Amino acid sequence: PATPDAATLAPALDLLKRIWGYDAFRGVQAQIVSTVAGGGNAMVLMPTGGGKSLCYQVPSLLRPGVGIIVSPLIALMKDQVDTLRGLGVRAAYLNSTLSLDGVREVEAALLSGELDLLYAAPERLLLPRTLDLLERAPVALFAVDEAHCVSQWGHDFRPEYQGLSVLPDRFPDVPRMALTATADDRTRADILRVLDLGAAPQYVSSFDRPNIQYRVGQKDSPKTQLLDFIRAEHAGDAGIVYCLSRKSVEETAKWLQAQGVDAVAYHAGLPPRERTHAQDRFLNEEGLVVVATVAFGMGIDKPNVRFVAHLDLPKSMEGYYQETGRAGRDGLPSTAWMVYGLSDVVNVRRMLASSDAPEEVKRVEAGKLDALLTYCETAACRREVLLAYFGEGYQGPCGNCDTCLNPPRVRDMTREAQMALSAAIRTGNRFGAAHLTDVLLGRATEKVVSMNHHTLPTFGVGVAHDEKTWRGVLRQLVSLGFLAAGEHHGLSATGKARTLLKGEATLTLREDTLMPRARRAEKHP
Ligand code: ADP
Ligand code: ZN
Repeated sequence: PATPDAATLAPALDLLKRIWGYDAFRGVQAQIVSTVAGGGNAMVLMPTGGGKSLCYQVPSLLRPGVGIIVSPLIALMKDQVDTLRGLGVRAAYLNSTLSLDGVREVEAALLSGELDLLYAAPERLLLPRTLDLLERAPVALFAVDEAHCVSQWGHDFRPEYQGLSVLPDRFPDVPRMALTATADDRTRADILRVLDLGAAPQYVSSFDRPNIQYRVGQKDSPKTQLLDFIRAEHAGDAGIVYCLSRKSVEETAKWLQAQGVDAVAYHAGLPPRERTHAQDRFLNEEGLVVVATVAFGMGIDKPNVRFVAHLDLPKSMEGYYQETGRAGRDGLPSTAWMVYGLSDVVNVRRMLASSDAPEEVKRVEAGKLDALLTYCETAACRREVLLAYFGEGYQGPCGNCDTCLNPPRVRDMTREAQMALSAAIRTGNRFGAAHLTDVLLGRATEKVVSMNHHTLPTFGVGVAHDEKTWRGVLRQLVSLGFLAAGEHHGLSATGKARTLLKGEATLTLREDTLMPRARRAEKHP
């Protein structure tokens, strides 16, 4: 679709200036606003922080009637509505936190045309009572935010989102928009189907966040690495630290506090009051570090988050992108920092393998994890790998990721890979990395001797390298799918390993494990 001309946009720009104080639309915002204000449908794919809200807020104000925003983020609706009211917009919300009287009041305002914007949780919107009401009220548009929630393939599947397929049937003349930051093809297809948007224009903005510096390092003492990073580059800055388990969230937060970092824990197991308090502090104070599980952050709009750190691997590239995307919404330099190690790779692989999800879902999830691990292990520009996953042909090097700033050496490690694979096979495909390393290094430990592994031809073939190198080789083999992680952390050679063992394929691995850690954490000028 062409860029709308100035005359068409004038009323929209006027509103933008008058209400929000902004001088111009960003990127595709102008096209989206003019399409929807003119009565058209739209599919909007924009990264977190890209400015999705204005895409439905402005057309809602331009069109007669109330704009209905469907959102799963009940906890944030009140804040959003308060902010809008502060700007002079007549906004309200409908969700399970309202009293019966509160609901009646909103419904009355809706019917009498006293609202510009109404936020609603999907389960509330889909009540027959609410739908009947909407049929009698003037509706400007339906905007389905976080639209990826319709898809079972996504990480935020909400069954009630699928019920939104009634909207095109019951309100065929009201413009519909879907908005999401998740670009994956299957998810996109699900959204188009449920909301019947097949014929609507799709607006896709670049997923590049040039101000975010991407860094991925090897984990050895994660808490200390994190503290060094914060002290060296982000002392006194607001940041988010993601951990996998509630326990490590609490431990890490306590530890950071003891080291003098202003930190607070956040996870779904805390009482609601504590969670709200942590969230409010994060939004309103300067320089607070929130240590959290992934439960934290969806919909949080704090512009000056200076870093997002991962102490554990996310489960997919989408997850990684969304979580790191919470940094630097104000466009200023920010850091996405992550450390991971062999045991993380083994853990997530095992968690996926042992889940009781249907096979097809497991395959898709394994593919998403593979993409993330490829990203972690890459020696190429990280931004290039990240954006390629989202279908963008970005040409690096970007000059603002660790591999660009400090290019890792790569080496043909086919022989080392063969040694490691043969150690796994000859010991019966059931021992973990520590034992395999002992065998490779020729260490006659009690376990090695009791298993008779000191008599294997593989025993001691790897003495030319140190333990760290072997851990690195094994990690990369698991990441790249040559070794599979089984029960009790046991590693076994996969079908894919055969080509390597037969010498039909070669393997180039990073030498990062040989590099001093400090070099990789240098501050970017
Ligand atoms: P998203 O929902 O896509 O994550 P938001 O709608 O919350 O993003 O917008 C992110 C930030 O960008 C907000 O602080 C918003 O005020 C700001 N923003 C969006 N559009 C513009 C614009 N045209 N001019 C200036 N600031 C904008
Ligand atoms: Zn780069």
